[in-house]
Amino acid sequence: TIRPPESKEATTLQVAVRCRPLTAKEKLKSRDILRVVEGKVVVVLDPDVSKEYLDRVQGRSKEKKYAYDVAFGAEATNEDVYKVTMGSMVEGVVRGLNATIFAYGATGSGKTHTMAGTPEDPGLMVLSLQSIFALISKQEADYEFEVTCSYLEVYNEVIYDLLERSSGHLELREDPDQGITVAGLKRIQVTTAEKILELLTQGNARRKTESTDANATSSRSHAVLEIIVKRKQRNQYRSQILRGKLALVDLAGSERASETNNAGQKLRDGANINKSLLALANCINALGKQQKKGLAYVPYRNSKLTRLLKDGLSGNSRTIMLATVSSSADQYHHTTNTLKYADRAK
Ligand code: ADP
Ligand code: MG
Repeated sequence: TIRPPESKEATTLQVAVRCRPLTAKEKLKSRDILRVVEGKVVVVLDPDVSKEYLDRVQGRSKEKKYAYDVAFGAEATNEDVYKVTMGSMVEGVVRGLNATIFAYGATGSGKTHTMAGTPEDPGLMVLSLQSIFALISKQEADYEFEVTCSYLEVYNEVIYDLLERSSGHLELREDPDQGITVAGLKRIQVTTAEKILELLTQGNARRKTESTDANATSSRSHAVLEIIVKRKQRNQYRSQILRGKLALVDLAGSERASETNNAGQKLRDGANINKSLLALANCINALGKQQKKGLAYVPYRNSKLTRLLKDGLSGNSRTIMLATVSSSADQYHHTTNTLKYADRAK
């Protein structure tokens, strides 16, 4: 396999925020404190100020405001989020480029809803595969394609296969041809997008979750779907194979370990999640700096997650950080933490 030439071009980083609506249950005891203005500004209402006031001033108040590359309000669908953030990204993957998108946010903020989704409302993992297949079908006269997927989790700095019922620990390898790979990871060939939601749902059921005081089922692991597209020119002797890689990451809940009143195994768990999240945060900050001021050192080696994602976060890759927040007043603390973090990433 020949990879596209290493480029000195800096990685493009885009920061997006998605605000989720209140659930029926939340509506009974809490209220909406977020507004999205002009498709890129998130206005956070003081949880003690009335909703009517915010509607009246239409976001022109002295409330806290954060601007991003793009912001989605409660009415946005997974399809809307997909089109705006990933539409053109997937086209690059079919041409041999690497790309990464990750959902960052507290437990319950909508990461899994956005990334995997449901049969009625398929998420970015499903929608991106759908458009990969649509793009491929238009080029099949000239090229031969192979699309493969793997789905893994990083838990306590150990990698497990989410496509295998009882997976053991897997190790990272640096392969001179393939880049970073995970030894023994199941990689399945897919020919339709429909199949993937079933596999994701099964895989998600295997993800390590744990009860914490913060939430009944908080995901304690980072889940990574990797889609590899190989493209080869037809009817050509010794034709070059282009290999594009798209990583879609459903991160562990970002609520800090200190906020969950935990001990023992759970505390170690929290500390390790912070280690991977912190390492990713540091890489994202460096990428942001690189974008503004030219080349900067990006510390990929500090965690399993960042080592794993390195190929999709470097060279001429495209990276999207999608921060998810709840619009519910009782999540004010988590919401502002996430918005501030995403604000620093730019
Ligand atoms: P996370 O993975 O971040 O812990 P989930 O994706 O499981 O959070 O979302 C928590 C709850 O909120 C779920 O019941 C989910 O169906 C609902 N939810 C999340 N985002 C949305 C959305 N954009 N629209 C409607 N419901 C949502
Ligand atoms: Mg989740």
